[in-house]
Amino acid sequence: MDHQLLQQVTFWTALFSLDQELAEEVRLGGCSCGGVLHRADFRRKPRGGPPDLPAEYCYRFSFCCNREGCRKRVTPPSVRFLGRKVYLHAVIILVAALRQGATPRRVCLLAELLEIDRRTIARWQVFWQEQFPQTAFWKVARGFLLPLVNAASLPLELLRRFLHGHDSDPTPGWKKLLEFLSPITVTGGLKC
Ligand SMILES: [Zn+2]
Repeated sequence: MDHQLLQQVTFWTALFSLDQELAEEVRLGGCSCGGVLHRADFRRKPRGGPPDLPAEYCYRFSFCCNREGCRKRVTPPSVRFLGRKVYLHAVIILVAALRQGATPRRVCLLAELLEIDRRTIARWQVFWQEQFPQTAFWKVARGFLLPLVNAASLPLELLRRFLHGHDSDPTPGWKKLLEFLSPITVTGGLKC
């Protein structure tokens, strides 16, 4: 569980590829009206990643239906962006998890490094401990993680479970965790 991974461009290019796959699945499915989905990405200014993250990785994939009268917007799940939050999803998980551990000094250093203020971190804590456990997603998804994960141990326990056995290279564990959580990143994904 190391923030240095999050500062590596290669980590973000791996997640970018995964987002491309998730987006392609949605595009192939087309619009619910039968229309064709065209790219209409959102430009984002993600925070918490490497300072030199190339601009092409700063888009959230999104589509618009090409049918006159529909034009519905469809935004696929993402392993990088959590809804409209400006910080990258992995950063939100890692900082909140570190805050639960016995490493207050590391949290301070990381907060300083990534320019996250204390109120923001406190909000993330509320998100993981109070909002997330109430979501319809978690009520179903927790059944896939045995033994059951206690809500009070979120998100630290999620990280532990998914990174277990990936000590030499945590990237695959992170990819699995972020893909597992990707349904909450779309509009309505956090509904109870
Ligand atoms: Zn449509």
